[in-house]
Amino acid sequence: MQQNPKKIVVAQWVRMKCTFGCGNYGEGACCPPNAPTVDECQHFLEEYGEAVLFHVEKRLGNPNKGYDWSKGINKRLMDMEREVFLAGNEKAFLLVMSPCKICKKCAKSRGECKNKERARPTPEAFAIDVFSTARQAGYPIEVLSDYTHKMNRYAILLIR
Ligand code: SF4
Repeated sequence: MQQNPKKIVVAQWVRMKCTFGCGNYGEGACCPPNAPTVDECQHFLEEYGEAVLFHVEKRLGNPNKGYDWSKGINKRLMDMEREVFLAGNEKAFLLVMSPCKICKKCAKSRGECKNKERARPTPEAFAIDVFSTARQAGYPIEVLSDYTHKMNRYAILLIR
């Protein structure tokens, strides 16, 4: 759905959860600490007046299936960002549904990223409170306790 970027919620707690508690902290070239500060993320979003919020539902069942599934969705979303850009929207920028999985093993730093043109951060890496943002837009999202539950995942395409 179309989303007013002014309604995207940025929160310090999101960055804290990345820094303390995420088992992949420091492992991703598009995740903290390889991400702008929370204030920079807030200012970046304020530069936009139009965005699209993508809601993706999936019951994985088996966590081993998650890699290929999220890699495929991210790729399709990146292709869309490219189309929107080529349609004349020079600011088009995608926040992908799940951490970049273009490479089997991430380079761990922006400078060494093996696919700089296609690698994008998640909303969470940009300190976006996806829970509050989705609920405010009328979409479901809950904390899940295991992979048998249906996931509600989100990506954001900032347009202009
Ligand atoms: S393109 Fe590769 S190296 Fe760069 S962020 Fe994605 S997985 Fe990491």
